[in-house]
Amino acid sequence: MKIAHHSLWQTDTRESIVDKPLSSHEHCDLVVIGAGYSGLSAALHAAQQGMSVRVLEAKTIGYGGSGRNVGLVNAGLWTPPDDVEKTLGKAAGTILNKALAKAPELVFSLIKKHQINCDGLRNGTLHCASDKAGLKQLKARLTQQIARNAPVELLSSLETRQRTGSTKFLGSLLDHRAGTIQPLNYALGLAKAATNASAIIHAHCPALTCQHNGRSWVVNTAYGCISADKLIHATNAYDSTDVSHQTFTKAHYIQFATQPLTQTQRALILPNGEGCWDTNQVMSSFRMDNNARLIIGGLGSLDNRGKNTQINWAYRKLNALFPHIKNVDFDYMWDGQIAMTSDYLPKITKIGTQGIRLYGYSGRGIGPGTLFGKAAAQWASSGEESELPVCVTAPIFEKHTQLRATYFDMGATLNHWLSCRF
Ligand SMILES: Cc1cc2nc3c(=O)[nH]c(=O)nc-3n(C[C@H](O)[C@H](O)[C@H](O)COP(=O)(O)OP(=O)(O)OC[C@H]3O[C@@H](n4cnc5c(N)ncnc54)[C@H](O)[C@@H]3O)c2cc1C
Repeated sequence: MKIAHHSLWQTDTRESIVDKPLSSHEHCDLVVIGAGYSGLSAALHAAQQGMSVRVLEAKTIGYGGSGRNVGLVNAGLWTPPDDVEKTLGKAAGTILNKALAKAPELVFSLIKKHQINCDGLRNGTLHCASDKAGLKQLKARLTQQIARNAPVELLSSLETRQRTGSTKFLGSLLDHRAGTIQPLNYALGLAKAATNASAIIHAHCPALTCQHNGRSWVVNTAYGCISADKLIHATNAYDSTDVSHQTFTKAHYIQFATQPLTQTQRALILPNGEGCWDTNQVMSSFRMDNNARLIIGGLGSLDNRGKNTQINWAYRKLNALFPHIKNVDFDYMWDGQIAMTSDYLPKITKIGTQGIRLYGYSGRGIGPGTLFGKAAAQWASSGEESELPVCVTAPIFEKHTQLRATYFDMGATLNHWLSCRF
């Protein structure tokens, strides 16, 4: 059966947002570049504080990672909290850890407040141990989280089997703060809330150049220009502006959505609807959507060289995790780009005068992007940097980003190819 090569999330969009064409020169307090979670959360919160806000989006709202991701709303990053503190230092690391621990609360409260129709479900996530080393890793994470009073618990292999429907795991870490969403509809809901708060979104309107003329920012597009006192640059892995790309490594992540499962099959898999990912070095994830489709994902891309390998891998993975569900096909497959920084921590960097750039969530951007956007709005209205979750630094140029990108993509493809053979 042929698998449609586009995101499942696009087939179920529930908001149509009024985006306005830009036709001339406009002035505003704040211009935001990029309509993903970071940019939209910034626009929403700045508009709520009375700022006049315009958002420029090169394609459509949620075109980037925000419309393609797995939908796991996690507390924190991939990097365990102790490592965050080691990298940033105790004081700065603690600030970031504490802020990110509350990020799911922010996401689910926005969903509630703005009545965002995005299947928000706060039943926790399961980080599943694929082997003994993975279980050891989860025990270390548990200790770190308990030390921070986080509501997490380590489940046995039997409990994990009951929750996931798979016998493949030796245990799992259940994080009660976390949950799942339909990611594109969350982005569209944020956009609607931002426009209701009077922000103006210009879709299909890429920022071509951004320059500060000594008094204000001037952002040129093919349709007109926007001048603004402040600028928030929120293009993350999908950046097409004149800001250097050598600031992160682009990795890819693929997803495959099955046809809707039968009621009997659905009852056997994730009955409580937790989102899951595993401890494998080449990580993979799985979750259910609201229409009983099982979505399996993993690192890698669907470019022509790797596509068949990835399709074979997805079928093998499905059968390995859930051998009891037979003759199930995939309906959709898609991929997306992730901005990985060398220390896997998100960044806020200065761009010129009165401009900041938010990026580098390294695969964990739903909570962090929403949180960073909100904090950036606060910065835009008050000018205060001290309230931001990370210190604002000068632009960071990373070495060997192309080499690392090839390593991530080829490594994932090779790993998936080998897993189909042995
Ligand atoms: C496949 C995949 C799975 C993931 N799974 C998860 C998950 O389960 N949980 C989680 O927390 N995170 C996950 N992530 C990460 C998360 O999706 C991202 O970190 C997050 O969406 C980043 O949001 P953002 O707003 O910063 O950037 P984006 O959503 O990428 O938005 C950037 C926007 O900027 C626009 N843009 C670029 N250049 C210009 C320009 N010149 N002018 C105007 N606009 C421009 C782009 O078109 C894009 O819409 C995943 C990512 C991917 C790709």
